[in-house]
Amino acid sequence: VTKIGVLTSGGDAPGMNAAIRAVVRTGIYNGLEVYGIMRGYNGMIEDDIFHMDNKSVANIIQRGGTILKTARSKEFMEAAGRQKAYENLRKRGIDGLVVIGGDGSFRGAQRFSNEFDIPCIGLPGTIDKDIAGTDYTIGFDTAVNTAVEAIDKIRDTADAHDRLFVVEVMGRDAGYIALHSGLATGAESVLIPETRTDVEDLISGLTEKEKRKKLVNLVVVAEGDEMGGGSEIGKILKNRLPNMDIRISILGHIQRGGAPSCQDRIIASRMGYHAVESLLSGRHNVMVGIVDDKMHYIPLDTAVKEKQAFTSDWLKIIKILAS
Ligand code: ADP
Repeated sequence: VTKIGVLTSGGDAPGMNAAIRAVVRTGIYNGLEVYGIMRGYNGMIEDDIFHMDNKSVANIIQRGGTILKTARSKEFMEAAGRQKAYENLRKRGIDGLVVIGGDGSFRGAQRFSNEFDIPCIGLPGTIDKDIAGTDYTIGFDTAVNTAVEAIDKIRDTADAHDRLFVVEVMGRDAGYIALHSGLATGAESVLIPETRTDVEDLISGLTEKEKRKKLVNLVVVAEGDEMGGGSEIGKILKNRLPNMDIRISILGHIQRGGAPSCQDRIIASRMGYHAVESLLSGRHNVMVGIVDDKMHYIPLDTAVKEKQAFTSDWLKIIKILAS
């Protein structure tokens, strides 16, 4: 490779900027030309591509969001869109790609590099942590710390009024933010998409604790829970437990923003460095992950197909610690 492109795609995540910085500076250090591609695959199709130097990534390691912007691209799902994208890369001689994004973005990258001879390296950038082959994804640690900070504040007011709060955190298909933030804030119960939600069990647990006059004040729900997220769970609990003062709080997009945590900056920097090293050593179509604190490479399609091993004993721990 001699010229590489870098883009951020799909859902945004804090730490993406630190990853971009690492890719650009490692590339330049190794004598490569580096191009920034705006708004994910859209920029490739619309030729919104610019030359980057060390200065282009100055003062961004600490910033949330992504300087390259991100988007979902319908056109890239079509063969004609990917053809256009390829021509724009070829025109500049770009012969390697680093895609920072989630499983959808990897699916796109895999397809693209099957069709055209451009090696793609994926970096897991998602607050949901729903990608196999890595212990960390860029943005998860920041998102979960933001959720914990917010839930701690809710706990104060819940406690002051003896209220039960149902707090919805992000996670349409994955319960990691809910599990981590729920365990870290001492929630009574955590409801996640990966397991069946037993409403009767939840209600009997809450009723039993009310009888014992235990302060019960937190249920954490992932937005993608099978019962339908915070509003629906809140409604059910209000109906079934009319004597309890129940409120619903949906944390929403604050979980995507903010300065990346120390951990997210570090993993983004390490992964970004190794993405370029991977292209230089001839690897293609792999995701760079970290497992047991060592760099770990798995094919992009495996990262997409497999889910992270699910830590099922956490639910049991949460239940026991909340008794
Ligand atoms: P994330 O990367 O956060 O999972 P998306 O699922 O929205 O986000 O995927 C990001 C983009 O990747 C999509 O908008 C689309 O352009 C591209 N993409 C996803 N799946 C495919 C696919 N099967 N073929 C081609 N492109 C895809």
